[in-house]
Amino acid sequence: MTGDPRLAESALRSTTGGEQPPQVARVRTRDALHVVPAYKPGKPPTRVEGVTPYKMSSNENPFPPLPGVVEVVAAAAAEMNRYPDMATTALRARIAEHVGVSPQEIVTGTGSTGVLGYLVTATCEAGDEVIYAWRSFEAYPILVALSGARSVQVPLTAGEGHDLPAMAEAITANTRLILVCNPNNPTGTAISARELEDFLAQVPPHVLVVLDEAYVEFCTDEDRPDGLEFYRDHPNLVVLRTFSKAYGLAGMRVGYAIAHPPVADVLRKCVLPFGVSDMASRAAIASLDARDELLERVATLVAERERLAAELVAQGWDVPHTQANFVWLPLREHASAFAAAAEAEGLSVRAFEGEGVRCSIDAPEANERLLRVAGAFRSQLG
Ligand SMILES: *Cc1c(COP(=O)(O)O)cnc(C)c1O
Repeated sequence: MTGDPRLAESALRSTTGGEQPPQVARVRTRDALHVVPAYKPGKPPTRVEGVTPYKMSSNENPFPPLPGVVEVVAAAAAEMNRYPDMATTALRARIAEHVGVSPQEIVTGTGSTGVLGYLVTATCEAGDEVIYAWRSFEAYPILVALSGARSVQVPLTAGEGHDLPAMAEAITANTRLILVCNPNNPTGTAISARELEDFLAQVPPHVLVVLDEAYVEFCTDEDRPDGLEFYRDHPNLVVLRTFSKAYGLAGMRVGYAIAHPPVADVLRKCVLPFGVSDMASRAAIASLDARDELLERVATLVAERERLAAELVAQGWDVPHTQANFVWLPLREHASAFAAAAEAEGLSVRAFEGEGVRCSIDAPEANERLLRVAGAFRSQLG
């Protein structure tokens, strides 16, 4: 009965008490909210007697924070009575040095999801259109719906990749923003430099294109696009990066956009004041400073990914070529049953009902167990 508005009304009555007339709240909210879908976060694993549980449902990094990170965060914690630097000056300078642009071209936020929110706020109002592939990152339809704009979802190809020609065709006079998720979450597929080049040539200069590179560090394809190079050649391109995946700072909430100064200046107007904490800034800087260890960890995860993908193919699975830190099993109507089978073995994976299951690359023991679950499930399917 919690959804019954009358219940809230009577609760208000009882607290006012006495002879007071009843207070009835009828708060007006935006109609746009009726169509906002809910974000379904990856579940933690269920405890199973005698086995180590693994969370393979959120594409997190199984490694702990990089060396030195916990120490700088602990030191910064002692100053949490102070607001952070609102302009994240030190972090932006360090990121700018890392990617080879000026600090003015860096806009930080609470994860790249936060920055994506700024991008939508900066470009969209009611009636505008945002084009993106589907299925892709779950936050896209939420952020677009919140703005009052309309999502134009272009189905993935048969190979579970972006259909860039169809996305170019979907551009109308109302298009304000195009999101390209590369590699794509949750299918892991990546586009080539050539495909991106052809696509960008068809986008009018007033339409902003966001290249969401949340998993770029894991992308090893030889023909992969260099986001920064494309950025330099296209004034309407923004590159979005995060510290949540390869850098292992998902809990710190820090990400950034690389945007040309006129775009970056507009984005800064949309920024949530003091969104990025001092602890998050320092953690991100220390993580960028630990480059060698980062590359080592990424190489380990990529090697595990390749092993897992190859074995799944050997088991007979039709897994799309993944370039991220997860694999996609196109299970369709069996997605939930597979997730339940994994859960029974202490593994949580992310099921998209009727579509497939996304499994994040974890420690070798977890990946091994996932292979066993997948093998058993496959033989059961016949
Ligand atoms: C995880 C992810 C992000 C960023 O997440 P944050 O934790 O908010 O930085 C952005 N895009 C995609 C496609 C992702 O999978």
